[in-house]
Amino acid sequence: MRVAFLGLGIMGRGMASNLVKAGHAVSAWNRTPGKQVENARIASTPAEAAEGADVVWLCVSDTNAVESVLFGEDGVEPQLREGSIVVNSSTISPSATREFAERVRAGGADFVDAPVTGSKVAAESGQLVFIVGGAEATIERIQPLFSAMGKTVLRMGDVGMGQSAKLAQNLMTSVIFEAFAEALTLATKLGVQPESLLALIQSSMVRSGVVDYKAPLVLRRDFSAHFPMRLMFKDIRLMLEAAKETRVKLPALETVSEIYELAMEEGQQDLDYAATLTLLEKWAGVEVRGAAAS
Ligand code: NAP
Repeated sequence: MRVAFLGLGIMGRGMASNLVKAGHAVSAWNRTPGKQVENARIASTPAEAAEGADVVWLCVSDTNAVESVLFGEDGVEPQLREGSIVVNSSTISPSATREFAERVRAGGADFVDAPVTGSKVAAESGQLVFIVGGAEATIERIQPLFSAMGKTVLRMGDVGMGQSAKLAQNLMTSVIFEAFAEALTLATKLGVQPESLLALIQSSMVRSGVVDYKAPLVLRRDFSAHFPMRLMFKDIRLMLEAAKETRVKLPALETVSEIYELAMEEGQQDLDYAATLTLLEKWAGVEVRGAAAS
């Protein structure tokens, strides 16, 4: 298939590269020039990338970025035609997703929301899980693209439902990590070795994929961005907005949100969201350190 891939950040670059490896003709674009994907054509605008494409795939930061790539100056919209498909893998607002889909569909193309779960490593190794909203027939048509980039496609319902489900799932990621960070801080203050606590967590019913992924990094004090704090905070705001719109109360998430605000005031927005641990450490007057990092 001819695919325009827009957004070559932490996730997008690996995704675009896997499309190329699967034999698709990829025309890629990134807002800041200079990013390359081997054997892909690099376009200078979203419109140029989308010219003649069967599918336009987006993986940019947030709702505003998606809007500007689709409908802004040099955006994709004028290039869309009957039968082309826009797929958005950026995590954005469910209600804005429905508006964007309506506008795309008015021109005869179709829209699928397909935010992902999985890390940078999963994006690079083609192991992403896609959380999808849209028409079944359209999703069927782009199955080869999903297969090139991921291992699972979970359809949640119509357009917008992929984003809604993604927000609910990421709510758990953010709260589980903060629970882990608080447990590490308290255990350290009480004199328990972090490795001993980890062994206990992973042999009990609180074991977690979030802990599996983050613990080795945290214990090495490696807070470089796999999922930048600013993007997790963006998701937390989307969750709280969706909760407000639907009159749902999320007290644990509200507290987590405050921790993020304070961490970002300290300039940590471009670090991994795991760096929120350092705020708890500061308040407690301890530092969690694995034996390997000592
Ligand atoms: P990232 O590394 O920060 O990359 C963001 C991309 O969006 C870059 O290509 C950036 O371009 C582009 N962008 C930002 N603002 C833009 C704008 N106004 N117009 C056009 N392009 C714009 O982020 P990422 O980690 O790849 O995340 C991308 C999406 O996937 C986000 O919605 C995120 O929440 C979601 N996600 C990420 C992960 C993860 O583990 N990282 C996991 C699941 C979901 P520049 O290079 O010019 O800045």
